[in-house]
Amino acid sequence: MREHLTLLTFGLFAASAFAAEPAPDGAWRDAPKNSDAIRVTVVTGGHDHDASFYSVFEGHADIAASVRPHPGGLARDLRKGTQVLVLYDMMREIDPKQQSVLRDFAEAGKGIVVMHHALASYLNFPWWAENVSGAHYVFDPGPDGKKSSYKHDEILAVTPVVEHPVIAGIGPFKILDETYKDMWYSPKIQVLLKTDNPTSDGPVAWIGPCATSRVVCIQMGHDRHAHGNPAFKKLVRNAIIWAAGR
Ligand SMILES: [Zn+2]
Repeated sequence: MREHLTLLTFGLFAASAFAAEPAPDGAWRDAPKNSDAIRVTVVTGGHDHDASFYSVFEGHADIAASVRPHPGGLARDLRKGTQVLVLYDMMREIDPKQQSVLRDFAEAGKGIVVMHHALASYLNFPWWAENVSGAHYVFDPGPDGKKSSYKHDEILAVTPVVEHPVIAGIGPFKILDETYKDMWYSPKIQVLLKTDNPTSDGPVAWIGPCATSRVVCIQMGHDRHAHGNPAFKKLVRNAIIWAAGR
């Protein structure tokens, strides 16, 4: 039943969550951390995901990640204890308090990594996509009648577009993942990686247009096939380190 449920609900619109997650606010039980390890807060909730997602953060002495699922994820000021905020939630609407937590964090010159279905988050807070992530999934058709779509289990051939620390050491690679098509993009994003898969818009990793914080967006990352891909793991790690200003 769980497997069945998994197949039925792994789409972008799934709302319930059964994937195993570390204890809320719990310390990450992982490799021993250096005292100057980058403090990463990972916000989840609003979308099912494979527990393999957490493997992306494991095994690094210089990254200390803790998970804060909604509803607590954006409930309090994150500026003090967090150097890099990794967003892997999917909350279409957030309240004014959560909006100010995000805005305060972005304006404080921190690091932000927006991953996969988090590109479909905070749609009632357009400031975020315009000034931070530089893109968002479109659920409701606009005046042009266009809305975004997604497709699972696509093979993407991914190639670098520019030279950038976030993609250092990552050459062309292939990944089995979910694609998004017909999203909205800011003209100010800097695309790092693209694919020519026709079910994708093309950009699969980019730098957001944020004037104050370092922002990396990674469209990839749906399930265990992506989470276990060595190039994807390296990309997320590079993104965290660069976003932290290291
Ligand atoms: Zn997905």
